[in-house]
Amino acid sequence: MAIGYYPSGCLQGGVELPATGPTWQVMRLSRNRNWGHPDLVKFVERFAPLAATATSWKGILIGDMAQPRGGPLPFGHKSHQIGLDVDIWFMPMPDRVLSKEERENILGNNVVAEDGKHVDDKTWSPADVAFIRTAAEQPEVERVLVNAAIKKELCRVESPNNRSWMSKVRPWYGHADHIHVRLKCPADSPNCRAQPPVPDGDGCDKSLDHWFADWIVHLKIPEFSGSSRGLKLKDLPPACTAVLNAPANPASAATDERSQPR
Ligand SMILES: [Zn+2]
Repeated sequence: MAIGYYPSGCLQGGVELPATGPTWQVMRLSRNRNWGHPDLVKFVERFAPLAATATSWKGILIGDMAQPRGGPLPFGHKSHQIGLDVDIWFMPMPDRVLSKEERENILGNNVVAEDGKHVDDKTWSPADVAFIRTAAEQPEVERVLVNAAIKKELCRVESPNNRSWMSKVRPWYGHADHIHVRLKCPADSPNCRAQPPVPDGDGCDKSLDHWFADWIVHLKIPEFSGSSRGLKLKDLPPACTAVLNAPANPASAATDERSQPR
């Protein structure tokens, strides 16, 4: 179950995405953040081959999901706490299994130009449009977060006839080398708090302009600056106290569960 809100909650009964699949590989394995709600793992397994087909990539590279029990991350993000967020890189999966070291050290492909106002012609390609679009078209997807320069490029190139998918694609800080896919609250998680729905329309309006104000473009935000440090257990939903304090040993956890009335 996803418990709480994307930037303030935890995950009960999370499952692990296998580090290597036919059309995906998980990066930065040392972080142990390839966990999520079963719906998120199912989503990645279903989306990876779709994205591969849409882009002609061999597959996709998966960045952070959530910790095994979700909760605040010590570095990197404010959200990713309830097992419904996943970062996916703007980089085709290579045609071989990457080593552990490569998964730690390979840098993502930054597709935003130096000026912060355009995509970078050297790294951006039409396949990136297909990649984002395929993510946004999946029904369980709530939002796809990308850098504002990327959103602007989608507004420029996408045909006026079929832009319904674009409302889900929202500009956000950073996100120049990956997309952030967020799923809707699953039906089995009554304590998951939904995010307000995205506004109607393609988002290619004045609301996009403020992202290109000089002071915002020049904000130096390292890719992994955000964190939820300072967030305390008492700030999370009460149900998270039990989840985050449960014993680590799976055997003892199973025994505990059997002795509890259902
Ligand atoms: Zn993210």
